[in-house]
Amino acid sequence: MKIGFIGLGNMGNPMAANLAKAGHDVSGFDMADVTVPGVTMVGSGPEAATSADIVVTMLPNGQILRAVASEIISAMTPGAVWIDCSTVDVDSARAVAEQAKEADVLAVDAPVSGGIGGAAAGTLTFMAGGSDAAFEKASPLFDIMGQKAVHCGESGAGQAAKICNNMILGVTMIATCEAFALADKLGLDRQKMFDVVSTSSGYSWTMNAYCPAPGVGPASPADNDYQPGFAAELMLKDLRLSQQAAESSDADTPMGQIATALYEQFVESEGGLGKDFSAMLPRFEKRNRS
Ligand code: NAD
Repeated sequence: MKIGFIGLGNMGNPMAANLAKAGHDVSGFDMADVTVPGVTMVGSGPEAATSADIVVTMLPNGQILRAVASEIISAMTPGAVWIDCSTVDVDSARAVAEQAKEADVLAVDAPVSGGIGGAAAGTLTFMAGGSDAAFEKASPLFDIMGQKAVHCGESGAGQAAKICNNMILGVTMIATCEAFALADKLGLDRQKMFDVVSTSSGYSWTMNAYCPAPGVGPASPADNDYQPGFAAELMLKDLRLSQQAAESSDADTPMGQIATALYEQFVESEGGLGKDFSAMLPRFEKRNRS
């Protein structure tokens, strides 16, 4: 297939490389001067989109997505598929899908989980929103770039699933970290805390698979001086998107709201920028009840 790939950063670069490695003819464009193994770089987004069977975008945010959409949709062939893998607000995802529909382009919003490691290994999970026809045509590419793709519903449903999942993740990480900090103050050994909680009703992915306490549980960023992993500022981005969606849909999300405020404080004024999101534990460790 002829594929156009726009946005070749940390995630897009290895994803595009995997498509080329699988034998597809991939044309790439990024604002920055980048190269990708097996991908032919071109001079603009529309150039990458023209005559492509499928266009993939992997961009930083909804504003940039809207700008790129207004350039590429008119360049695309009617009936072609556009997969947007960026994490953006639900409103932007729905707006660009509407624009695509008017031009007879089959749009799928398909944000991912799995991070840079998953992108390189081709083991991402895709959460997709769009018509059955669009999802079906996008599926062969999901199979190359990832190991699982869930068709969540109509346009915007992929983004909705992603931000709901990550709101749970942010809230749960905070709960796990504050519980470890409380356990410390109570003189409870961290390994014992893990042994109990990981097999009791307080268990979670953040405790069992990504334990924020160094030397406890399976290997995680905590064991590597909290190098990301999943950076705190990316967690903050997703939490903000969850609150933007809660605002626009009038949903009550008090825990999501508190988690957003805590990560905001952590990233903007407590040295969390560039650290893994599990570095909330040393943050709590240093504090007293105020
Ligand atoms: P990144 O900043 O490394 O890459 C984004 C790329 O888009 C950059 O190379 C930038 O130059 C390019 N770009 C910006 N504007 C452009 C334009 N108008 N035209 C063409 N290219 C343009 O970011 P990333 O880490 O690759 O993340 C991409 C998306 O994936 C984000 O929405 C992010 O939230 C999401 N995501 C990231 C991770 C992760 O672990 N990094 C995990 C899951 C989801």
